[in-house]
Amino acid sequence: MSSAAWRALFTLICAVALAPTLVPAQEPDYGLAPQRIADDVYVLVGRTEDFSRGNGGNIVNTAFVVAPEGVVVIDSGPSRLYGEQLRRAIARVTPKPLLKVFNTHHHPDHYLGNQAFADKPTAALPTTISGQRSEGGAFTENLYRMAGDWMKGTESVPAREPVSPGLVTIGGRPFELLLFAGHTQGDLAILDRQSGVLFAGDLVFWNRAPTTPHADVATWLATLDRLEALPFRLMVPGHGEPVPDARGIAQTRAYLRWLEGALRSAAERGDEMTELLARPLPPELATIPLSRLEFARSVAHLYRRYEAPTLKQAR
Ligand SMILES: [Zn+2]
Repeated sequence: MSSAAWRALFTLICAVALAPTLVPAQEPDYGLAPQRIADDVYVLVGRTEDFSRGNGGNIVNTAFVVAPEGVVVIDSGPSRLYGEQLRRAIARVTPKPLLKVFNTHHHPDHYLGNQAFADKPTAALPTTISGQRSEGGAFTENLYRMAGDWMKGTESVPAREPVSPGLVTIGGRPFELLLFAGHTQGDLAILDRQSGVLFAGDLVFWNRAPTTPHADVATWLATLDRLEALPFRLMVPGHGEPVPDARGIAQTRAYLRWLEGALRSAAERGDEMTELLARPLPPELATIPLSRLEFARSVAHLYRRYEAPTLKQAR
């Protein structure tokens, strides 16, 4: 081989050795691990945090029930990727087919995973479906901003099948679909008759402060009383660990009662929003994760509504 040929070969070897290795970009992993909470009932408990690039929006509980003939999924998570990983997590538990995916309400962390279940029946209350249609674009954009790469390729896919309340049998297992409101205009709770597990969606937050962007606090408080009267053995809140009793309801109620009182009394005194924001939370509520942040958000969402009647009376 001539010296020129040797030089060319050497250059080629160096080029190959120094070329950046073409490893495909790794998919971020939510690390979804279904937790068995009753016979054939599984929950994937999200973190009690706000959306971030660290958690990819995995701040929500999703669940599934393995019925005799197939699987019923309750909420699909915050992104396409979460939905895909949820499907794989379910497949590791059971080979049975997916029969139905319910969305408890139209908030993005509960349904943006629908995209991964596009070949399956997705169902929600009519108000939820219309909320997904009208607000899905803005929700998705907001989550891209907060959770970054985890959201890649995610699009809002509204549920396709409107449901009405009542007893339904899916795959040979009875479920009670319950229509409520308060957290949003339409909140679906699902009682699995066989296990006594009540999937409360965001009507109940446990050790995580409630969010209120679409809330009607008075309606929500009335709903909590109705939830408490249901014959459940275990409650799965929308956020926070499953609880075997009504403690989640009690904590959500205590927070909402305090919030409503704070909004009302500040409006009556004619306080500025900044004065209300400076108000300390009672110690038992101040220790709930994110209570300070959610209080500030709630004041921003709700205070005008409480101020308006007071202003009218003053005239
Ligand atoms: Zn929600």
